[in-house]
Amino acid sequence: MNPSPRDNFYRCMTLIVDNGNEAAWDLLDYYLSKQGTTLKDFIQNNQHEIYHLCYNYGGCCRCQYGTVNKPKSRILYQSQLDILLDTKGNNIPCNVHVRSKPTCSHTVNDHFANPNIVTKQLDLTLCRCLLFNFTNILPQGSVERNAFEDLINMRNKCCHAAKGEISSKDYQTYKAQIEKCLLALAQVYGKTHDMQLKIKDAEKRPLDESICKQLQQTVLQEQVLQGISGLHKHIESSQEAEERTTIEIQKIGKSTKRTLRAVNSSTKSAGHTASKIKKIEESTKRTLMAVKSNKRSVERKLKVNTERTMRAIDSSREAEENTATKIQKLDERLSKYGR
Ligand SMILES: [Zn+2]
Ligand SMILES: [Zn+2]
Repeated sequence: MNPSPRDNFYRCMTLIVDNGNEAAWDLLDYYLSKQGTTLKDFIQNNQHEIYHLCYNYGGCCRCQYGTVNKPKSRILYQSQLDILLDTKGNNIPCNVHVRSKPTCSHTVNDHFANPNIVTKQLDLTLCRCLLFNFTNILPQGSVERNAFEDLINMRNKCCHAAKGEISSKDYQTYKAQIEKCLLALAQVYGKTHDMQLKIKDAEKRPLDESICKQLQQTVLQEQVLQGISGLHKHIESSQEAEERTTIEIQKIGKSTKRTLRAVNSSTKSAGHTASKIKKIEESTKRTLMAVKSNKRSVERKLKVNTERTMRAIDSSREAEENTATKIQKLDERLSKYGR
């Protein structure tokens, strides 16, 4: 007898929710125990970078102690950051976007990891975020990493089965895909055999309608959450856009100031030139005046000289005339007496 579509949904979902989450937690715990650390300390060590997975633009007050890699697009949402970090506490970094040094008392050693965090609080997405970004156990391009990615894709696919049913044809494909992912992950932390047993158990597990309803509820919640997260994404991206706009406006403001300063200084230099021109004009005027006055004095002198010369000429002519008259009178006297 072929299992019902309801049964198919139940089996796929229990594989992903029960066995998938367990695999992700085991992976993280395996890494942490190998490093000899706890989840809280692990988050603490990466707190600054985790913070910027959410606030991926601008700097926070801790950036003055050392900058961290910021993703091109936001990886974590505020609701996810709230799980990892003590975002309601006093140690959350100040969100500073300007270059000026913040005037807060935060130090780089302030601890703001969520103090009560445990592995089982993390869903597949958060586990992926920590494992991919802060550990080396799922290297980029590896089979294990692709398996983790595929498992999340399968979860999203099954979550779209809002009716809580999966057809027989889809079920075969989904089941094979999910099991392949689970086994690839279990291999990393050395529990492939355990995982095979769990998968067999899941096959035999009788359909439990109450669990099935719960799973369906989970799916619906997931869809609501995805809707909300979509809404969040929208709100956050519009906030981001606003922040960016503010930054742009600040930049424009700065460049405008710079331009104004440049204009001012060029006005000043133009002013310099103008005053230089004015000075040259003034000195030219002065020269001209000097030349004019010089000319006038030359003319005056010339005139005076000429007048004097003329007067001299006149007076010498007068004298000449006088002499002529005297000579004439003398002549007349001579003719009177001599003849
Ligand atoms: Zn920072
Ligand atoms: Zn601060």
